[in-house]
Amino acid sequence: MLYYAGIDIGSTAIKIVIIDEDANIVGQKVSGSGSMFYKYAKESLAQLVQDIGITPNDIVYIVSTGYGRKLFKEADETISEITANAFGAVKAGESFGTIRTIINIGGQDSKAIGLDEHGHVVNFAMNDRCAAGTGKFLDVAAAKLEIDVEELGECHFNASGTPLSINSTCAVFAESEIIGLLGNEHSKEDIVAGIHFSIAKRIIRLAKKVGLNGVIYFDGGPALNAGLVAAIEDELGCELAIPEYPQITTALGAAMLAKEGYSYSVSKELQE
Ligand code: ADP
Repeated sequence: MLYYAGIDIGSTAIKIVIIDEDANIVGQKVSGSGSMFYKYAKESLAQLVQDIGITPNDIVYIVSTGYGRKLFKEADETISEITANAFGAVKAGESFGTIRTIINIGGQDSKAIGLDEHGHVVNFAMNDRCAAGTGKFLDVAAAKLEIDVEELGECHFNASGTPLSINSTCAVFAESEIIGLLGNEHSKEDIVAGIHFSIAKRIIRLAKKVGLNGVIYFDGGPALNAGLVAAIEDELGCELAIPEYPQITTALGAAMLAKEGYSYSVSKELQE
């Protein structure tokens, strides 16, 4: 059996997906990017290979993507995260129907990608200038509120009354705003709901730039936060398509492209 790997080296997390010849996911791994992207990505891949009981040589083609993609020297190809995200969303979102809009919130950026009815990228919009509407914003807020990011969802649903309005667009100012709200005896839950609604409004404004069509797919680590999902769905007035493992969508797309890349390189060799 031949295997293909997609490695998404994000600003916050390294995501690896290994698929087999039938494009089934045989392994996946999420680990922190830390400060040494290349070293951690290499170690993470070696660990995953060992966990699923194959050898490094069984992986015949590797595609890297994401912020640190160029650092991964062993990759046979590097691909932009827009392309890889689109490929992954079409595959992981098959059961939801035809995906026409992708909303991705990553550690340090957020983006919206518009697809045509065949799954090809037609346009995209990106915010990578400030932390507002990114995982970083949620991480800073959670740290200030002394809760884990994994608890943000539950907190959201325990909020009472109208969500608070959070106006800061910068993570540093948001931290001061949170301190002010805590000082005024607002509950953590109401603050969290306010943060989620502020991110929801921001990401929808970005998504409107590419157009909100058909099935809207949401991925990236923050898509694991059920409170944020609920806030975006409330603001949108419709349900989002979210796969079981939204954080690995882009790595899955890279793995699918690795499978294609390998077939192409073999057919090219045969022609020569
Ligand atoms: P990148 O590709 O830029 O590294 P990711 O898509 O991996 O970013 O998202 C990282 C962000 O996802 C983190 O900053 C964190 O806020 C969020 N996140 C990760 N896991 C969870 C979880 N279980 N629940 C809620 N949020 C999460």
